[in-house]
Amino acid sequence: MELGGGSVVPVPLSVPVLLRLAAMATELEALTAEVESGGLDHLDDGGLLAFWQEFEGFRNRMPVVEHRVVRDAGSRDLAGRYCQPSVARLMAQTLRIPAGEAARRARAAEQLGGGVSMLGEPQAPARPALAAAQRSGQVGPEQVEVVLRGLAKVDVRGFDPVAIAAGEELLTGYAATFGPKDLQVCVDRFVDTLDPDGSRPDEELQADRRFFELRAQRDGSWRGEFRLTGTAGAKLAAVLGPLARPRVSLVTTAGGRRVEEPDPRPYPQRMHDALEEICDRLLRAGSATEWGGVPATVIVTIDEESLRSRTGGGTTTGGGRLSTAAVLGLAGQAEVVPAVLDDAGAVLTLGRRRRIASRDQTLALVARDRGCSFPGCDRPPEWCERHHIRAWIDGGLTDLDNLTLLCAYHHHHFAARGWTCRLNPDRLPEWVPPRHVDRHQKPIIDRRILAAGLREEPHAAAA
Ligand SMILES: [Zn+2]
Repeated sequence: MELGGGSVVPVPLSVPVLLRLAAMATELEALTAEVESGGLDHLDDGGLLAFWQEFEGFRNRMPVVEHRVVRDAGSRDLAGRYCQPSVARLMAQTLRIPAGEAARRARAAEQLGGGVSMLGEPQAPARPALAAAQRSGQVGPEQVEVVLRGLAKVDVRGFDPVAIAAGEELLTGYAATFGPKDLQVCVDRFVDTLDPDGSRPDEELQADRRFFELRAQRDGSWRGEFRLTGTAGAKLAAVLGPLARPRVSLVTTAGGRRVEEPDPRPYPQRMHDALEEICDRLLRAGSATEWGGVPATVIVTIDEESLRSRTGGGTTTGGGRLSTAAVLGLAGQAEVVPAVLDDAGAVLTLGRRRRIASRDQTLALVARDRGCSFPGCDRPPEWCERHHIRAWIDGGLTDLDNLTLLCAYHHHHFAARGWTCRLNPDRLPEWVPPRHVDRHQKPIIDRRILAAGLREEPHAAAA
């Protein structure tokens, strides 16, 4: 296993699962060779399509194997051994997949993988119909995700388990016919019929089902979905309502007459702008939550050249890209800290050149570490604490070269798990794993810190 520079532990090849895996690799290689040497030519159009579907079926069955791996990782506390807070986080780090994808796989494993009771008896999966369809290759991982999310919305206290089991069978049947997008429509309809809005004014039920999701998109925009409790919804409506009212502007016509021009923005856009206005107001007031002793601040790492030449862009601590123009616009309402990073990602200078006080140190730390500096951790700086690499009580100084950001989990657990932190010659925090993780104890620098150095090159920013 490789974990950001860890060692590969040799395993005897006589283990049956490894023999099977090797046999599968051989078969796949043979199939690839057959296909590449014109093997598909022997099929007519219908045959080619059938081959394609059959092959997709194999792909769909793959997660069934992984479900068991995830379960075993959980029961062995593999995540804890590698100092990761969850199997999903371990998966993202080890398999180099996005955190969202890892979370989806862990969720599918939990719902469709079944388990073993305390007495060692096998237990049926939580969603048996869907699990069977996956095992037969009929449904793909995206369809599984759509159905699981829909069922999770209604499978809460107050709903009839029999109706939910029937719903699972119904939706699994649809999944054999529809792709993820159409399936989502079926799922939404099912959720609506089971859950007609307003028929249960039960506040506890509302609290059970509350959620608010916000996801950054590749193009820099954000999408989200939410379901608010009655009280939270009423508060939000009360705050947004007045701000979302159409704005009437007076314009002067060619004839010198002053007329009212209606607000061109439709209602959803006015609601959006109202929400942004609330955020602006909070940021200006500096009254939002505090972290690490620094009032809420939108921190954008941007190189000075981009800022001066008004080209390129910067990176927010959440990883989003903002054009320099957007950064300058934001600077009027929130604090923007230009930081110059060298190729390795170390902070050379901070935009504000006065004597570094603790607030500035934290900002410099944020620019360098981007969040928790423990390898593979994705906690943003807002959730982090400052950690003295050499303890303050042992004479460690409170300066940039003796500080790193750590999330509460890693701050409290790394020492007991045998990890140590130090600053490397590039002045970046690096982590030395315990011997049971890596025999050679090769230090690891968090990929986010390494990537930051590459991302902030002026050439990359101007592209
Ligand atoms: Zn962490």
